[in-house]
Amino acid sequence: MSSVPEKETDQYYFDSYAGFNVHRIMLRDRSRTLAYRDAMYKNPGLFRSKTVLDVGCGTGILSLFAAKSGAEHVYAVEKSGIAKYATKIVDANGYSDTVQIVNGSMEDLDIPAKVDVIISEWMGYCLLYESMLPSVISARDRFMSPGGTMYPNRAAMVMTGLSDSAGAKQEFGFWDDVCGFKLSATKACAICEPAVKMAPESGIVTADSRLINFDLNTVTTEELNVDVPFSLLPLETGTLDALVVWFTVSFEGPSATVVLSTSPFDPETHWAQTVFYLPEPVEVEVDVPLCGRFQMAPNVKNHRDQDIVISYTTDSGERRMSYKMR
Ligand code: SAH
Repeated sequence: MSSVPEKETDQYYFDSYAGFNVHRIMLRDRSRTLAYRDAMYKNPGLFRSKTVLDVGCGTGILSLFAAKSGAEHVYAVEKSGIAKYATKIVDANGYSDTVQIVNGSMEDLDIPAKVDVIISEWMGYCLLYESMLPSVISARDRFMSPGGTMYPNRAAMVMTGLSDSAGAKQEFGFWDDVCGFKLSATKACAICEPAVKMAPESGIVTADSRLINFDLNTVTTEELNVDVPFSLLPLETGTLDALVVWFTVSFEGPSATVVLSTSPFDPETHWAQTVFYLPEPVEVEVDVPLCGRFQMAPNVKNHRDQDIVISYTTDSGERRMSYKMR
């Protein structure tokens, strides 16, 4: 099978972070940015006089939080063109003695010292889309001093069931009539691309099922090939139109724990949730679990994309759905 060279897919990936809009979207996401800020400001003990590595510093905002929390030195690594501005930003805020912007790919660089804390905002849609976590793991394995910590230090992925026939109709009924033309040929494939959107809270009709729980201080790249069972407990009898996946990351510190949640029950973030519509509604009965498997792995042609397989058992047998995030 021919695959797109990693260099090419990465060029596209890093170019997408060279502009300003993507950074504005992230910085404006209050749940995201304030979680990082609070986690650092509430735990100065973790940063005071410490050496910190910021993997993918973007505009440098996380490095500034770390510097303000008392870090002695921050290596702020950024591959994309935004690094040039990060240097100016750090300077303009009076932290150029503490924060050192390094323009390059984390994988290609050598940091002259071991670090006590690695900060990074590496999460993509459905947690693992964009596959940035492997870069952070390899930095951890090369540069973390014994007893050091990743920050956030935990990540979890959660699934729940959604009853949302109106949403399903909107997503897929749409193709049946576009300006009077039938575009229905796309429907069977369109369903294979999960929707990134806020799942209506009122449609959540099962209890949560925890898919994975990563300790980021120990997780390996191999473990990012997710293959786990799930069991969704219906809170009422009715139909499921979609399965919804979201994530949390936690910053456990000596003085406080901060959790960044992308749940449909929490304020909207730019990650929203990932909604996997089902080919047809599944009838469920209160307290009778819907059991299945959730598999997610980087695409073999483009490691930044993710292939997801969700299988589940209903009265009429096993269904297996393949989804692509690209
Ligand atoms: N830390 C910033 C930006 C987060 S977005 C903030 O919180 O606002 C992730 C950033 O990591 C992007 O700017 C991307 O270009 C950078 N990045 C991803 N992988 C990288 C790698 N392997 N080496 C260097 N930079 C990387």
